[in-house]
Amino acid sequence: MKKIAIIGSGITALARAWELQKCGHMVTVLERSNQVGGSICSCREGAYLAEEGPNSIQVNSYEVDAFLKSIPGFSEHALYASVDAKKRFILKAGLPRTVPMSLLSAVTTKLWSPTGKLALLKKLLIPTSNPGIEESIADFSRRRLGNELYEYAINPMVGGIYAGDPESLSLRYAFPKIHALEKRRNILLVAALDVILAARKKNKPRFKKRILSFKNGLLELPQLLAKALGESVKTGVCLESIGRNQDKWVINWNDHEHSYDQVILTTPAHSLSKLPLEPSLHNALEFLGAIDYPPVSVLNIAFKRSQVSHPLDGFGLLVPECERRSILGVLFPSSIFQHRTPEGDVLLTIFVGGNRQPELATPDTEELLRLVLPEIGEILGIKDSPCFIHHKYWDKSIPQYNLGYGQFLKQIKDVEKKFSGLQIMGNYRDGISLSNCIEQAIRS
Ligand SMILES: Cc1cc2nc3c(=O)[nH]c(=O)nc-3n(C[C@H](O)[C@H](O)[C@H](O)COP(=O)(O)OP(=O)(O)OC[C@H]3O[C@@H](n4cnc5c(N)ncnc54)[C@H](O)[C@@H]3O)c2cc1C
Repeated sequence: MKKIAIIGSGITALARAWELQKCGHMVTVLERSNQVGGSICSCREGAYLAEEGPNSIQVNSYEVDAFLKSIPGFSEHALYASVDAKKRFILKAGLPRTVPMSLLSAVTTKLWSPTGKLALLKKLLIPTSNPGIEESIADFSRRRLGNELYEYAINPMVGGIYAGDPESLSLRYAFPKIHALEKRRNILLVAALDVILAARKKNKPRFKKRILSFKNGLLELPQLLAKALGESVKTGVCLESIGRNQDKWVINWNDHEHSYDQVILTTPAHSLSKLPLEPSLHNALEFLGAIDYPPVSVLNIAFKRSQVSHPLDGFGLLVPECERRSILGVLFPSSIFQHRTPEGDVLLTIFVGGNRQPELATPDTEELLRLVLPEIGEILGIKDSPCFIHHKYWDKSIPQYNLGYGQFLKQIKDVEKKFSGLQIMGNYRDGISLSNCIEQAIRS
C-alpha cells in the first residue's frame, strides 16, 4: 500500500484516485478550489441547467463503461442521451444540413456535391503513401478525403472538438487512431475494414457507444467520485510547498507537512508553473507552459419553443470555417437530455472563439450577445430575445495538440524518469475528452 497525493480534482485526478483506492492505496486529493470537477461545471438556475464546460461524455469502450459502473450511485444518477438526438447538422450556404450517418444517406446527402463525393470515393480507394512528415489534420484530410470533405466535415468537427485550427493541429497527436489507420494500409478503406475484421477475430462484440450526462448535469460525475472517495478529497487547499526528501515526497498544505510515496500532478499545463514546486522540478516543467490553450466563450441561452422555427431535432450544429460566421457551433442540450429547461422552453449552448477566431471570445456578455443573437437567429429562425442567459468565458480552454506536440510528451516522460515517484497526468497527455482522461487514469 502506497501513500499517494494527487494535485487537482478534475476528472483525471478523481478517476485515478478511485482506481488507486480500489487497489488499496491511501490517496489524498488536494484541490485548490472549493468545488471538485475542474473544467466540469454545471450551474442549475431554477429549472435551467447550464453547462459551462463539457456537456456530455461519450462512453466508447468497455473499460470506461466498467469504470463508470464501479462508482457507487452511478447507475441511479446517469442520464443517457435521447435517441431522437442522434442527428447532427453542419451549416452549408447558411442552412443546417443533416450529416449522413449511413452509406445510403452519404450518397444522397446535399451536404456534399457529387464532385466532392466522387473525389472522396477515389481517395478512399486509391493507394497513397504517407508523406513521411508530421502532417496537420487539414493537410491529411485534403490529401486523403478531398477538399470538400475537409471543408464540410473535418474542419467543423475539429472546431467542435478542440475549438482548434486544423491547419495547426497534428493528426498524429490529435487523432492518433486515424493516424494509425493510415500507417496500417495505404488504401484507407481497406485499413478501416482491416480494423473491423481484426476486432471480429478477437470475438469481442463491438462496444455500442453511448452519450451520457446526469439529471443535474455532468458535475454529478466528479461529485459521485468525490463522495465515493470520502475523506480522501480535500477542497479549498492551500499548497505551500512540494518537494522531495530522500525517497519521499513532502508536501506542505494548510500549514501542515505531509509525506507521500508518490505525487501525481493533474493541474492544467499552464498552471503547473504556479504550483509551489521545488526549484529543480519547477524548472523542469516550465516548458509545458508553452502548450497552447485558446480562449472560448460558452453561452447558454433559452427560448420559448414557439420562438424557434428549427425543430432542434438533433445533437447540434457545427459551423465550417469557410461559412465565415462568428460561432463555432451550437448544441441543443434540451433535445439531448431531459431536465435542462422548464416545460416548453429550449436551451442552446453556443461556442465562440477557439483558435479559429480567438479575438471573438470575450468576458463581456453584452458584446457576445450582440455578435451571436443575430447569427443564431438567422440560422435557426429565432424571434425575439432569450428568456435565460448564462455565459462562461474561458481564457484558457482546451490544450491544442499542435504540430511538434511530441516534444512535450517526450519531455514529460523525461521528467518522470528524473523525478522518481512523480507522475504527470491530465488532458494534455493522452487526449482531451472525458473518456480519454478516464482511460488514462485506468491505464496509468
Ligand atoms: C468549454 C469546454 C467544453 C468541453 N466539452 C467537452 C465535452 O462535451 N465532452 C468531453 O468529453 N470533453 C469536453 N471538454 C474537455 C474536458 O472537459 C477536459 O479535457 C477535462 O475535463 C479535463 O480534465 P482534467 O482533469 O485533465 O483537468 P481539469 O478539469 O482542468 O482539472 C484540473 C484541476 O486542477 C485544479 N488546480 C489548478 N491549480 C491548482 C493548485 N494550485 N492546487 C490545487 N489544484 C489546482 C483545478 O482547480 C482543477 O480542479 C471540454 C472542455 C472545455 C473547456
